[in-house]
Amino acid sequence: MNDPIQKILWNITNPDVRKAFRAVDRARFVPDKLQNEAWFDLPLPIGDEATISQPSLVAKMTEWLDPGPNQRVLEIGTGSGYQTAILAEIVEEVYTVEFSAQLSRTAKERLDALGVKDVHYRCGDGAEGWSAHAPYERILSTVAFPEKPDRLLEQLGPAGGIALIPVGPPGETQFVTRYRRQEDELTEETLLPVRFLSLR
Ligand code: SAH
Repeated sequence: MNDPIQKILWNITNPDVRKAFRAVDRARFVPDKLQNEAWFDLPLPIGDEATISQPSLVAKMTEWLDPGPNQRVLEIGTGSGYQTAILAEIVEEVYTVEFSAQLSRTAKERLDALGVKDVHYRCGDGAEGWSAHAPYERILSTVAFPEKPDRLLEQLGPAGGIALIPVGPPGETQFVTRYRRQEDELTEETLLPVRFLSLR
């Protein structure tokens, strides 16, 4: 009953996602003075105007992404690197883009120290994606896009590809949107109202 991770995972059935949550300790991604709150189901400040997302939302979004062992994933908004580490537990390679040089560097140092492998870091504007390594089987953003993320969707391929992106105006409610690449069309579904940091 006192297992906070169990509470966070109450509606998560994907065994890989459940296992990844057990393998990655969120406390390692939270500032020293917030250690007591590390497993509260809340977003927490991580410096440079960013926050680590609420763990139940990280879990749900990871499950919706439907990640698998042979995939290469593009992640936008490295932040603390927590979501990056969860993805790296499940997929083959993670390509993660962060706007803040400080956050990108700290996340790399942290994940290197934790022995998290197969992660590639880039400091830059995530709205552009990372075309050099495209196409990706999966794309996940933890920063909100003001409108349909066309540049990212160009990098999503081939048939079966899934992108999960919060879309909506800064400071207002956004919607986690799931795009799926079918044979010759891109479908779009709205899944959940959220408030994420917006692209800077
Ligand atoms: N997934 C992170 C939380 C990310 S919060 C974690 O698990 O800790 C959103 C992040 O997006 C912030 O770190 C912010 O600096 C970053 N960001 C904001 N604008 C961006 C942009 N244009 N390109 C890439 N990252 C951006």
